[in-house]
Amino acid sequence: MKDNTQLVCAGRHPERFGGMVNTPICRASTILAGSMAEWEEMKRARAAEEPGATTYGRYGTATTHAFEEAIAALEGGHGSLVFPSGLAAIVTALTALLRAGDHVLVTYSAYSPTRSFLEQVLSRFGVEVQVYEPTCGNKIEALMRTNTRVVYVESPGSETLEIQDIPAISAVAHAHGALVVMDNTWGTPLFFKPFDHGVDVSIQAATKYIVGHSDAMLGVVTCNKKTWKQVKETTQSMGQTAGPDDIYLALRGLRTMGVRLQRHWKSGVAVAQWLEAQPEIEAVIHPALPSHPNHELWKRDFKGACGLFTAVLNVTDDASVIAFIDALQHFGLGVSWGGYESLAIPFTPSKHHGERWPYIGRAVRIHVGLEDPEDLIADLKQGLAALSACEARLKGSTHRNLCEAR
Ligand SMILES: *Cc1c(COP(=O)(O)O)cnc(C)c1O
Repeated sequence: MKDNTQLVCAGRHPERFGGMVNTPICRASTILAGSMAEWEEMKRARAAEEPGATTYGRYGTATTHAFEEAIAALEGGHGSLVFPSGLAAIVTALTALLRAGDHVLVTYSAYSPTRSFLEQVLSRFGVEVQVYEPTCGNKIEALMRTNTRVVYVESPGSETLEIQDIPAISAVAHAHGALVVMDNTWGTPLFFKPFDHGVDVSIQAATKYIVGHSDAMLGVVTCNKKTWKQVKETTQSMGQTAGPDDIYLALRGLRTMGVRLQRHWKSGVAVAQWLEAQPEIEAVIHPALPSHPNHELWKRDFKGACGLFTAVLNVTDDASVIAFIDALQHFGLGVSWGGYESLAIPFTPSKHHGERWPYIGRAVRIHVGLEDPEDLIADLKQGLAALSACEARLKGSTHRNLCEAR
């Protein structure tokens, strides 16, 4: 089945629910058995991972299993597990795969709470954490040690947007007996197929495009056969579970994700191209633009682009960045992304970027939503006018200050 058909069909079993098109919201803690024989049978079925089998709400209900089945099919993995947030999914997968004495390599472009978890929490449990340069490709070989257990990738990084050579990194990692864990949130299960490129464990912050409407938090981990047992057992040991109402919203979001992403992609590129041509813009960092340093890798490995990219403003002072952001009407000021609405927020990448990131104080992360791109461009145009007016005022005042000083 092609992806768009999977989006409609995956995880749906109307015959189990009186013909209802959608899997209902099944709320449960206790699940009753009619007899001891039935209870033993329920436990056996759960242990055997039979479809829909459960013995307690924490292990999921039909709603949970429908979502996990759908994501596993779309990502192309062996099995998926749902979590109450994207970060919960990331930290549980890493905890499952790492132990004291292991060495983990994490790209410095990773979502910063991921790095914080490794550096501040897992390091306390004897895991050695080392950051690496995202565009290293097979040069990651030089960093591999006998105890390297996980290479963590995020492509593109959700702020600085470097595309990683995942097949090259995976080949090196596997040659050294290490696993590749990927944050695939930008690519979504539609635009990057992690298991075709050597990834062992793929993570989605489903909060973003899968839920798609900025009204629920959710994460999902998808494993290959090799990692499945270990990740599943740790997930259950740690009591990880998610509520059926939020999962229902994710399942509902999934059904329309294909059409939404086509629009996010097209509008995102249109807005990015327009911005790139403006004198108030120093650079636009968008993997689908030919100006992106890793554009060829994006073309080789990705099937599309979402609506998230970075614009660098041509400014001399914070005041102009503030003037730009505060002038915007259609771009909300807030974190997260992947909803139907546009967002813009200034950001500073982690300290690991050091002098390699030349845009400190001028970078704005933009999420292009489902509004008409003409309205978005008009909004950005007046935002840039406010930026220019601020720059002109600043130049004027510098001149005055200089005159006064004389
Ligand atoms: C938002 C985000 C996460 C975390 O997801 P939450 O649901 O907010 O916990 C992880 N990775 C990336 C790339 C994200 O953008």
